[in-house]
Amino acid sequence: MTLNLTHEPIEGEHFTITSESTGDVWEIVVGLEVHCELATVTKLFCGCPNMFGDEPNTNVCPVCLGLPGSLPVLNHQVVELAMRLGRALHCSVEPSVFARKNYFYPDMPKDYQVSQFDRPINVDGWLDLPDGTRVGIERAHIEEDTGKNTHAGGSGRIHGADYSLVDYNRAGVPLVEIVGRPHIRHPEQAKMYIDELRAILLATGASDAKMEEGSLRVDANVSVRRVGDPELGKRCEIKNLNSLRSLGRAIDYEARRQVDLLEEGIAIRQETRHWDEGAGRTRPGRSKEEAEDYRYFQEPDLVPLEPSAEWVAAIDAALPVLPAQRRTILAEAAGVGATESGVVMAVQRGLDGLALAAIDQGGEGRRVLTHVEHNLAVDGAETLDPKHLADLVGLELAGQLTATQAKTVLAEMVSSGSSPAAIATELGFEAMDSSELEAMIDAIIAESPDEWSSFRDADEKRQAKLQGFFVGKVMKVSKGQADGKAVTAILESRRNAPA
Ligand code: ZN
Ligand code: MN
Repeated sequence: MTLNLTHEPIEGEHFTITSESTGDVWEIVVGLEVHCELATVTKLFCGCPNMFGDEPNTNVCPVCLGLPGSLPVLNHQVVELAMRLGRALHCSVEPSVFARKNYFYPDMPKDYQVSQFDRPINVDGWLDLPDGTRVGIERAHIEEDTGKNTHAGGSGRIHGADYSLVDYNRAGVPLVEIVGRPHIRHPEQAKMYIDELRAILLATGASDAKMEEGSLRVDANVSVRRVGDPELGKRCEIKNLNSLRSLGRAIDYEARRQVDLLEEGIAIRQETRHWDEGAGRTRPGRSKEEAEDYRYFQEPDLVPLEPSAEWVAAIDAALPVLPAQRRTILAEAAGVGATESGVVMAVQRGLDGLALAAIDQGGEGRRVLTHVEHNLAVDGAETLDPKHLADLVGLELAGQLTATQAKTVLAEMVSSGSSPAAIATELGFEAMDSSELEAMIDAIIAESPDEWSSFRDADEKRQAKLQGFFVGKVMKVSKGQADGKAVTAILESRRNAPA
């Protein structure tokens, strides 16, 4: 069966898979669980350094090795960062309790993981995506990381390995697990969620959020249902998604797999699946029937955690302006919508401060954003003088620089720091005289009589295409000095003139 993944939005925010064989329209439902390592100096319950990439088994002590008689001491900075993240995600901070999650694995020296179970620290928040979607956050709790196994020989997996090595440097590193609600409807939206979460983690200083170093790890719960069905479908949890690319591909693959099965009348088995990047598919892992009973119980060596209202208030007062707020502020200043790509890109690249200052200095909002989005994805862009950016936009609007010329001048502004007027003079950029431009266009029309007559007689769709032919020629002859808008206007007046 061939499936056709369409990306057509329904009611503006849903995305669907249309089955080519049955014509049924399916909706993808995704909830993400993210583990992120907190950027603390030391581990969760001991004084060992929280450091990535050190010599194996050098950052260990009796506590994080789980030796008998050792006792955990809760790290103050962990609670501080976990709450900062929770508040940035609009969660309420609740009295919480640590619990033991019991299972055996060689990378976990205590044979249990200290986590939070039925009483997590942060509950019930949300995160706003750049596209305007609000994704609920069920909880964001504190837990400890495990060590790391390396399987030598064979394929690098445990099966077929000659032997396994274990590094306990990561055992006891503090994590926050952020459990999102199933409000995501598309692979691209899932990637957007991770991008946004990463921006929040960086803004709050809670984590360095490096997916490639494993400090941010994503599991995706994926299910599908027919559009309009109020019930959620059976979900599968995909583990080991260590890049945004894998996340998008895995959701896409998994949703198609589930639709395929359901259309053939086969029920989905709720299970954990692993993403195989090489093969481009998910494979079954543990099934839910065999799922461990973790035998959670309250950690007897730690007291319940109840941060004071003053502590929470101090955290709120110290929160930075977060990406979603920054988008709103910039959009308002520029007079555009907060979901516009120029706004989103400006905040993502950390250039919203520059854009705001340029607008404040008189730069027209939309054009400032156009430059930030398309022409400032370069190193050093943040050092640009906002007054210079505002002046450049002014020259463009006054018709003294074409869009192409402005782009060239801007690149020079970033590298040299000079003013746009000085650079434009130096480069010999002067607006073309309109009679000169008209003469140039008439000559081009005379050179291509066949193209011109088909342009004049064509329907709207073809006309747009043929107009591009003439605009391209004018740009080539004028070496980019002609103003695109003026060219279009002249072409239009020639087309409407009696033959
Ligand atoms: Zn330790
Ligand atoms: Mn977890």
